[in-house]
Amino acid sequence: MEKKKNKQKVKEKEIILKGIPAAPGITIGKAYPLYAEEVLIPRRTIKERVVEGEVIRFKEALTKTRLEILAIHKKIANEMGIEKARIFGAHLMVLEDEVLMGEVISKLKKDKLAVEYVFWEVLEKYLRVLSKSDDEYLRERVSDINDVGRRILKNLLGAEHRSLENLRKKVVVVAYDLSPSDTAMMHRGNVVAFTTDIGGRTSHTAIMAKSLEIPAVVGLETATSSVKDGSSIIVDGNRGLVVINPSKKTVKRYQNEKKQFEKFDKNLLKLKDLPAKTLDGRKIELAANIELPQDVPSVLAHGANGIGLYRTEYFYMNKKNLPSEDEQFQSYKDAALALHPRPVIVRTLDLGGDKFLSQFEVPHEMNPFLGWRAIRFCLARPDIFKAQLRAILRASHYGKLKVMYPMISGVEELRQANAILEEVRNELKKKSIPFDRKIEVGAMIEVPSAALISDVLAKEVDFFSIGTNDLIQYALAVDRVNEKIAYLYEPAHPAVLRLIKMVIDNGHREKIWVGMCGEMAGEVALAVLLLGLGLDEFSTSPIVVPEIKRIIRAVKYEDAKKIAEKALTLSTGQEVETLAKTQLKKLVPDLAIKIV
Ligand code: PEP
Ligand code: MG
Repeated sequence: MEKKKNKQKVKEKEIILKGIPAAPGITIGKAYPLYAEEVLIPRRTIKERVVEGEVIRFKEALTKTRLEILAIHKKIANEMGIEKARIFGAHLMVLEDEVLMGEVISKLKKDKLAVEYVFWEVLEKYLRVLSKSDDEYLRERVSDINDVGRRILKNLLGAEHRSLENLRKKVVVVAYDLSPSDTAMMHRGNVVAFTTDIGGRTSHTAIMAKSLEIPAVVGLETATSSVKDGSSIIVDGNRGLVVINPSKKTVKRYQNEKKQFEKFDKNLLKLKDLPAKTLDGRKIELAANIELPQDVPSVLAHGANGIGLYRTEYFYMNKKNLPSEDEQFQSYKDAALALHPRPVIVRTLDLGGDKFLSQFEVPHEMNPFLGWRAIRFCLARPDIFKAQLRAILRASHYGKLKVMYPMISGVEELRQANAILEEVRNELKKKSIPFDRKIEVGAMIEVPSAALISDVLAKEVDFFSIGTNDLIQYALAVDRVNEKIAYLYEPAHPAVLRLIKMVIDNGHREKIWVGMCGEMAGEVALAVLLLGLGLDEFSTSPIVVPEIKRIIRAVKYEDAKKIAEKALTLSTGQEVETLAKTQLKKLVPDLAIKIV
């Protein structure tokens, strides 16, 4: 009897990974892994007619790599002797390996995928096979091949390599890491969710995911090594979970939950046109944060009363040249007009930390978050700073713009920034260019030193906006993008609460308003507490605005004050969080669904 062929597909095991929730929502989709740590390689299909062009591109990259290696070989041989240069001889041999290079070309012709992707696949295969070889000589070649391979890839990918814009299908990106500029490229792309192995909940990559309104989980550690290209995957951005190869039962459960959340969110949008006012009449400014000019419609769609933080760094990212003053002017003007008469707070360039801009070639720093960033950079580059201030002032003629400086750490910095602003004002006046002469100027309070001298700073600005993302990382000495210490990143930590209270009280003593634009302002569980501490303005990702509005409208300011008073007597972040959650569940029971 003929043996019946077993055609049954082997079912992959369901894998559940726990990470850090970065952006809410649930997506059920197909994984698109980006394995390499430093290079992100798009799996791009190509048309038959461009195959030859890809072969030429490959050969050119090989020639370029060869010239680079020869130059290094010569330099090392001259400076350190021929013996030390020998390794580069081995590298040249890799380049001349006809089997490897030939395989790339034939696979390229067969699969019709972009050459860098094909090359990476072939290279990975070689590396895998060689590293398992019994032959010591072959095993030793692994690092040569790896080095040369990366050099070829770099030459193939050139400046344009990090593209997530042109994906053909909807995918869930499963990456080791994504920079904020990579994430910015996902705008209007086909990325429906993403996960990263590293990163914290207030990294700019995570913040960008909220702007894109796609679920994201970060700090998963092992997701890239657990997933295959095209694996089914569920991203649960509410709980920070990822399920790879989910069972039918799991898929069903998530489908139901997704529906339930969507229904709930849709209902909340009914509050869109209502004010953010407590039951006893305290009116709160509820604004939204944006990263890209394209985010403006979402601010209005979610019922925010303005923009509390316009992160302008993204103008400078993913570009070869600096944005012109006019280009910036146009975007600020568009936002001012679209939001009019609501306010738009434009934050001046906050380069640095985890946001690097290729044009500036900023030297690598050991501690970039403590380094040459934000206002420090702008004061050192008044040409760039003035161009931005001019653009903001010119646009202020068309709506209610406000200017805000990031990372102020002392009063001298603030005065210097204001002096430059004054110069720009005078220039515009001289040229009779119209601008809002009464434009409000504020400082972000995101460095503990600024919080501690907020009584002094309050005398020199029109408002404060507390940047908790940085304030928490500096106050608690917890890197905001490091998943290993994410458990220490506690917004409810008593030290953080005391700093916030101090800033609010000092601001109020000088009769200026105090807002918050860090992610803490959008933490549902902590909203009542912040309200009770006396915060005048909340600025959150647009998608969180309806939830915060719901809370503000459901509580009495007098009750919130009592909860805040109680919270200030507690000794741990955990105790504060428990108090806040219990009270919220009591005061706004329907929002319990959003507390995980
Ligand atoms: C903050 O630090 O809280 C903030 C809003 O600024 P960013 O997240 O851009 O550093
Ligand atoms: Mg900040």
